Amino acid sequence: LMDVSVNEVIKTCMNLGMFVSINQRLDAEAITIIADEFGYDIQFASAEEEENTGIEEVDAEEDLLPRAPIVTIMGHVDHGKTSLLDYIRRTKVTAGEAGGITQHIGAYQVTTEAGKDITFLDTPGHEAFTAMRARGAKVTDVVIIVVAADDNVMPQTKEALNHAQAAGSPIVIAINKIDKPTANPDKIREELAQLNVLVEEWGGKYQSQEISAKTGQGIDELLDKVLLEAELLELKANPNRRAVGTVIEAALDKGRGYVATVLVQTGTLKIGDILVAGSHHGRVKAMTDELGKRHKIAGPSMPIQVLGIDGAPQAGDKFVVMETEREAREIAVNRQQLQREQSMRTKKHITLDEIGRRLAIGTFKELNVIVRGDVDGSVEALSDSLLKLSTEEVQVNILSKGVGQISETDVLLASASDAIIIGFQVRPSVNARKLAEQEEIDIRLYSIIYNAINELKDAMEGMLAPTV
Ligand code: GDP
Repeated sequence: LMDVSVNEVIKTCMNLGMFVSINQRLDAEAITIIADEFGYDIQFASAEEEENTGIEEVDAEEDLLPRAPIVTIMGHVDHGKTSLLDYIRRTKVTAGEAGGITQHIGAYQVTTEAGKDITFLDTPGHEAFTAMRARGAKVTDVVIIVVAADDNVMPQTKEALNHAQAAGSPIVIAINKIDKPTANPDKIREELAQLNVLVEEWGGKYQSQEISAKTGQGIDELLDKVLLEAELLELKANPNRRAVGTVIEAALDKGRGYVATVLVQTGTLKIGDILVAGSHHGRVKAMTDELGKRHKIAGPSMPIQVLGIDGAPQAGDKFVVMETEREAREIAVNRQQLQREQSMRTKKHITLDEIGRRLAIGTFKELNVIVRGDVDGSVEALSDSLLKLSTEEVQVNILSKGVGQISETDVLLASASDAIIIGFQVRPSVNARKLAEQEEIDIRLYSIIYNAINELKDAMEGMLAPTV
């Protein structure tokens, strides 16, 4: 759309430190940055929005009610993310339910001393957070970044800060392990300041709290600070409409079939609702929380495990309640189709058609080939000629050569070492053909040696006429 050449885009990416290839998909963030370099503003339209799910995006102000904030905990490994999540779950999950066995369903809701609810996403770390964002899901309202007071601000602390800032999420710093004799919270504040993250006590804008996920010290105060950030956001949703939300995780449960934990973001989800989630759909048969307690309805910010979807949608997929089963199925089927087409477009492995493009990018140095033929003489002759095609830029490697049918093992080797397979007067076995399709391995069959050599030569000179 920008009307600039692919090479310019790739060059820009490189200047920005992104090493990309021509057929690579970029995430939303990268696309925004690159377009900006060319002076363009990006507006994202999701395939889902183009479908008619019949859900109006806007609610009237008077229909909106406050909703609980949704919180993600991030930080460096071993700094206490899991311990903090566990402590909060153990001590705060809905009073009166104590003694119940909690299951990990991907998210849970707690009620603080002051009677306010907070929803925690239970998969700590910025990978999950960013994977969701890459899928276009903005779920988290506030991010807690945990730093161990007996350690330092570490690489993953910095990454977490970057990811939260990139998402525009308010951050509360939890300086953890304060119970340890070696804890030095001032050092942490100092190191954060060096990253331009100045905590409030030092006159900055970042709220922070010294805590111990072991003894529980400071955790109530931490939650209060999270609620304060949330208040500033004035989080609201309309509970009186068809539910819309995001899939947190999904799995196939041996006894119960597909289960998906969803987070309702607006509206109220009810038993019997028909929903489409990613490329799956179904009717809500049952809903349970992380204590295994059944619910008939789930309102905004409530995480709930849903039974009745016909497959496992992906984390970050949006779900929408539909009016009829037929509409839901139609949308799901369309999306499946779209996914199939997309997966066909993204070639994982090298093909002859691909060589020219990789050459243009300049990252292509070796062409791996597996040769199979009907007689030893032709295999040798073909292999020798192929080796001679090596140029200064591209080295041809014959990974394997031999007489016989193209087998599954050949395809696996090609897949593992990104090779193409050349067959001379032989064909692949049925299973090898199937596997090659699955693994997207390029198998080229020839009955004239000269043709084989010429086609490869053309490909390596970037001259091969595209076949698709
Ligand atoms: P994660 O990798 O960030 O999830 O970190 P974990 O929650 O697994 O914690 C790593 C280690 O630090 C574990 O051995 C915890 O028991 C310990 N730990 C976590 N929080 C505290 C704390 O507040 N005080 C002390 N003394 N140890 C802690």
